[in-house]
Amino acid sequence: MESSNGFRNFTQMKNLVFLILMTLFLQQCVQKKIDLTKQPTQQITMEDNTHTNNPYYSRTDRTKLNVSNEEWKKILSPEVYAIAREANTEYPFTGKYNEFDEVGEYYCAVCGNHLFRSSSKFASTCGWPSFFEADKEGVIYKRDQSHGMERIEVLCKRCESHLGHVFNDGPPPTGTRYCMNSVSLDFQRDKK
Ligand SMILES: [Zn+2]
Repeated sequence: MESSNGFRNFTQMKNLVFLILMTLFLQQCVQKKIDLTKQPTQQITMEDNTHTNNPYYSRTDRTKLNVSNEEWKKILSPEVYAIAREANTEYPFTGKYNEFDEVGEYYCAVCGNHLFRSSSKFASTCGWPSFFEADKEGVIYKRDQSHGMERIEVLCKRCESHLGHVFNDGPPPTGTRYCMNSVSLDFQRDKK
């Protein structure tokens, strides 16, 4: 009798343990499910640079813009304005696209003009997002002798905002390194 009770208790205990484990497992699943549904919204907020108060922003219109800095100052965030319109440089290794390898397109953060495709981005150690090739319709170049250096500045072809500089120490196939400020860029992930 005793042993049979013992066996029954053992079975009950086993069932109880199983039940607890199942509950925990199910809770985890529910938790994961919630996380999964939350994730896209978080990512969208990170990527979604709402330009609702920027009437010049367009990812399709490539017509050249002629907007004064006075006007841009009213539209852009102080950070974007300082880098894109006053040619400041973000601190190395701080930019959101420095260590970033998502698949998609990069646009001008000021006007929405297309600048780079993620397939031309490479892991550079310089501390800024780097590309070996730019959209030919996206950028223009300007000689820059500031800070006692001889460099080539890269600007957005549509709004002439400062993007960064270009160097000839990049990887194949072009040997070019577009060293960009993350702040001047907007990323749009490819739709699956
Ligand atoms: Zn632009």
